[in-house]
Amino acid sequence: MFLLIYSGSIAAAVIVQYHHVDTETPAATSISPDLFAQHMTYLADHDFEVWALPRLLEALRNGEPMPEKVVAITFDDGYASVYSEAMPVLQKYDFPFTVFVNTALVGGAGYMNWNELRELAGEGNTIANHTVSHPHLVRRLEDESQAQWRVRIKREMSAAEAVLRNKLGHSPKLLAYPYGEYNPGVQALAKELSLIAFAQHSGAFDKNVDWQAMPRFAFGGAYTAMAGFIDKMNSLPMPLKAVRVSDGQGQQLADPLLPMAVSRPVLTLQLNTPELAQQVSCFASGQGRIDVQVKGHTVSTRPEQSLPAGRSRINCTAASGQRGRFYWYSEFFMRKRADGSWYPEP
Ligand SMILES: [Zn+2]
Repeated sequence: MFLLIYSGSIAAAVIVQYHHVDTETPAATSISPDLFAQHMTYLADHDFEVWALPRLLEALRNGEPMPEKVVAITFDDGYASVYSEAMPVLQKYDFPFTVFVNTALVGGAGYMNWNELRELAGEGNTIANHTVSHPHLVRRLEDESQAQWRVRIKREMSAAEAVLRNKLGHSPKLLAYPYGEYNPGVQALAKELSLIAFAQHSGAFDKNVDWQAMPRFAFGGAYTAMAGFIDKMNSLPMPLKAVRVSDGQGQQLADPLLPMAVSRPVLTLQLNTPELAQQVSCFASGQGRIDVQVKGHTVSTRPEQSLPAGRSRINCTAASGQRGRFYWYSEFFMRKRADGSWYPEP
C-alpha cells in the first residue's frame, strides 16, 4: 500500500493580483517595487511553486496531483510598471505571470503596448482578457434594456478575445472582471463564451470553485504588508459542503448586488465537520470581526452594521491544523447608494 505523494494535501491554489508596481500611482491600486520584490522573494524562499495560470487551472480541472503550495501571479490593466518594475524581478526568479489587458487601452499613456505584450507572451507569460474598455459589467446604461445590456457586455468580452487572437495569435480564454464585479448575468455571458473568469474577493480554491467567479487576493495600498501577504499565500480553501446568502428574513440572495432594502446579508456556511464549524471566525469589510452562530456543521454570520455603498466582503477563516495555514473563504457584495444610484470609484 502506498501513501499519497503529497500527503495531507488537497489540490488547491491561490492567485495574487496586482495593478501598478510603482510609488507614483494611486495608492489603492499600487505596491512599491521594494515591497513587490519582498513578496516574490518570500515565495521563492518558502517552497512555493509559481505556475502559469493556464497550467494551474488545467491541473486543477484534471485532478492532477499538485504541490502543497501553488501560486499564480496576475496583473490587471497592463500598466507600464509591470514591464519596467515587476518583470525584472519575475525574470530573476523565473516566475511566469498573467497580464489582463483592456484591448482599447493597450499602447495608451501609462500602459504597455502590443510589442511589449508580445515580448512577455514570447517568454512564457500569459496575456488575457480584461474586456475592451473596462466598464462596470453589472451596470446598465441609462435607458438600456436588459437585452441591449447583454449585447453590449457580451461584445466587451468577445471583441477583446478577438483582438488578443489577432494581435498575439492566441487567447487563453481567461477573463478578469473589471473592479472584480459580476452578477449571475455576467457570469452566464462569460460561460457562454467559454471564459474562465476572475474576481477580486479573496480566498484559496480547489476544483469546486465557481469557474466564473474565481477568487484572487488583491494587493494594493494598505493591503500590501508582508504579514498579510504571508497569511494569504499560505491559506487553504475552506472545506465547505454548502454556502447560502440570505436577506435575514428567509429570502435567498443569488446576486452579489444587494437589494436596496438589504444592508446586512446573512452568510451561512455548512462545514465538513462540527469541529471545524467551531473554529470559524468571520470578518466584514470595515467592521473587523463579526459574531458567528454555530449549530452542528453550520456557521451563520451577519455584519453588525450596514455594509457601506460600494464593494464589500465577508471573509471567514479557520485553523486548518497545519501550522501557519488557515482555511479561507470570501463572499463578495455590492451595494448601491441610498438614493439608488451607483457608487463612484474612489
Ligand atoms: Zn482593471
